[in-house]
Amino acid sequence: MFSDKEVFKKEFIETLEYTSSKTLDEASPINLYNTLGTMIRSYVSKNWINTIKTYQQSGEKQVYYFSMEFLLGRLLQSNMLNLNILNIVKEGLDDLGVNIDAIVEQEHDAGLGNGGLGRLAACFLDSIASLQLPGHGCGIRYKYGLFEQKLVDGYQLELPDYWLKEDYVWEVRRTDRSVHVRFGGHVEMNQDNGELTFEHKNYETVLAVPYDVPIVGFDNNTVNTLRLWSAEPVITGYDMYTSDRENYYKFLNYKRSIETISEFLYPDDSHFEGKKLRLKQQYFLVSAGLQSILQSYKRKIKASLRDLPEKIVLHINDTHPALIVPELMRILIDEEGFSWEDAWRITTQTCAYTNHTTLVEALEKWPISLFKELLPRIYMIVEEINERFCRDLWLKYPGEYNRISELAIIADEQVRMAHLAIVGSFSVNGVAKLHTDILKEREMNNFYQVYPEKFNNKTNGITHRRWLMSANPKLASHITDAIGTRWIKQPRDLIGLLKYANDSSFQEKVSQVKLDNKIALAKYIKAQTGIVVDEHSIFDVQVKRLHAYKRQLLNVFHIMELYNLLRENPNLDIVPRTFIFGAKAAPSYFFAKEIIKLINTVANVVNNDPHIQGKLKVVFLENYGVSIAEKIIPAADVSEQISTASKEASGTGNMKFMMNGALTIGTLDGANVEICDMVGRDNIFIFGLTSEEVLNYYSHGGYVARSIYNNDPRVRTVLDQLMDGFCGNDKVEFKDIYYHILSNNDEYFVLKDFDNYVETHQKVDLTYRDQKDWVKKSIVNIAHSGKFSSDRTIGEYATDIWGIRPVIIK
Ligand SMILES: *Cc1c(COP(=O)(O)O)cnc(C)c1O
Repeated sequence: MFSDKEVFKKEFIETLEYTSSKTLDEASPINLYNTLGTMIRSYVSKNWINTIKTYQQSGEKQVYYFSMEFLLGRLLQSNMLNLNILNIVKEGLDDLGVNIDAIVEQEHDAGLGNGGLGRLAACFLDSIASLQLPGHGCGIRYKYGLFEQKLVDGYQLELPDYWLKEDYVWEVRRTDRSVHVRFGGHVEMNQDNGELTFEHKNYETVLAVPYDVPIVGFDNNTVNTLRLWSAEPVITGYDMYTSDRENYYKFLNYKRSIETISEFLYPDDSHFEGKKLRLKQQYFLVSAGLQSILQSYKRKIKASLRDLPEKIVLHINDTHPALIVPELMRILIDEEGFSWEDAWRITTQTCAYTNHTTLVEALEKWPISLFKELLPRIYMIVEEINERFCRDLWLKYPGEYNRISELAIIADEQVRMAHLAIVGSFSVNGVAKLHTDILKEREMNNFYQVYPEKFNNKTNGITHRRWLMSANPKLASHITDAIGTRWIKQPRDLIGLLKYANDSSFQEKVSQVKLDNKIALAKYIKAQTGIVVDEHSIFDVQVKRLHAYKRQLLNVFHIMELYNLLRENPNLDIVPRTFIFGAKAAPSYFFAKEIIKLINTVANVVNNDPHIQGKLKVVFLENYGVSIAEKIIPAADVSEQISTASKEASGTGNMKFMMNGALTIGTLDGANVEICDMVGRDNIFIFGLTSEEVLNYYSHGGYVARSIYNNDPRVRTVLDQLMDGFCGNDKVEFKDIYYHILSNNDEYFVLKDFDNYVETHQKVDLTYRDQKDWVKKSIVNIAHSGKFSSDRTIGEYATDIWGIRPVIIK
């Protein structure tokens, strides 16, 4: 069908007629999108079927990646890229007078995630398929993804993200693979021939219906599956057509409450929300996913469940799906008749867990009362796991009551999900070297002492197919012109670019691409905000979720300081800067929302002050998400990665920027440390406290924010401006920020790092003046970015944790 463009054109017109009953002249952009999407979807279906069959016949071990979030973004362009048909399609559509980008833009982002964690899961799926590995995703088909952000008068407003308004062309509803998930009720214990049996009664049943999305590998025939579950009521004619009014209303309530389960994604990033509905979502995902995996295991693999650990791995992405541990125990014991000991051996050899954060506010701890009421049988199993674990600990640490209660899975009337995940898994990994070290030496040191063999590091990565080849095709093409095509399948080969770091002709091409991308972004900024920015200014970008620890506030304080300097001396010689922000705040995170308002308030003053001669611009782009990231990142000169050291587990935004030739200004936090190790101190701007210094302050005190306020006039001016209506704002508008710093002693060390940050930005300014030196550093960054391809990360997961091998699909 895609062998040549003439065949493609004919097929396109036929599919358009079939899907929309329209001719090309009458078709809307959405019609065209549906047509192309339908064609690509049907194009992959043979390979999809073939992949499933080949895995089954090979008997190879498969991994199931359980995640509450998959932040996929759009799929049309990346699927065409992976299928190697982007050019034929582009040329065919050109002939028809249709612009391919306009079609691609029609697709609604699948925003089924909050930020880094969900995007990581999406990059992993792309790498698993591209490395021909047998692995699949398990998630929830939220009816509403992460809210759409609008800015009104500088404030964030949340709108529902109804991404299914148009049919989603990539999914296939699989009613035949539906399963039942049970909630509530009570458990009866019976003696059956001397054996204890457990019967769950009076429960509420939810019908879990899977929707499958194909995950297309790059230039191979692999098509894996992302299975997303939707909650539906179990409907009987009796409920529906009952003449008993009361029963009928009961039924309507039941129907409504069930549908709520897969209705929306919780908009909290790195923050625990102890709502019953959230726990319901978690168990719904885990139970539906596991039942369907075990059904297909029994259907296809004629092995006993005893051999489960040789055939499958269940990966737990953060603690959100940790209930898979007791759920697997329940199925093995209650439904398959295994003894506790056998079930526990199978479970703990099958599950693996990734920790994503050390922030205490992110720890999932469920109140026993809520847990027990919703999941009575699962609670009994967790209790038993806890009792046996604590018994073992007593033997290991006799009399050490405190240590044991710190390690326990259930304590203080709460179930600690991280403890459950660690005890129930054979592998526990962190997501960057520094993060894993902090887990081992500090946050989880007591578990590390019990299970040193479980702990390992897997530094995060990003798919270079989406974040370089697809988002920045001109750069990708210059890279290929220089070093050939091997880097596409072996991203580490990007290191070959080091030879070209000083090559004037290559430097010129890289600079020109950056300028083109900046011009394109400037156009987008103008269209979105009305703000005109200078494409020759430094594009200094911080895009990521809004969080106190990510310190957008430090960035704003620096902007205010620069502005104050320029007002004093409008002729100050600085390289013009455009500061670009993008960030969603959780709707209930007031402090974060105040920072959004502050950025917009400062932007308003700075952008409209004629005295500063346009040397500064501040732009806040609304509704930051995957597709907007794909426009912004290729145009960035400077990447702001300025979290308080020790707080950002890895970061992946940092890697996307580096791969697109931006230079990082950052703290020694998360994967910044490894970026720095790769490129060397000359090619990155490092500043601020180290994680060790930060952690020492937390343990021993010794930091007084107010003394910096008293001694540094720049800091005093900026903070006072928050409170004196300097920005034309209400005087109490930013009081929480002011008091957070001065009364609560600046938990994230914004003032402590301010001086060094300002100084380091002066180095950025000086370095940028020497464009040859700048582009050289930029090329060095691109050359070293191969390490941060998620292909490297997934290769490590496959060998070190999962024990899975590639399966060639013919
Ligand atoms: C990569 C990505 C993130 C993660 O960014 P960090 O800077 O690592 O926090 C968040 N949101 C989107 C849309 C992304 O693409």
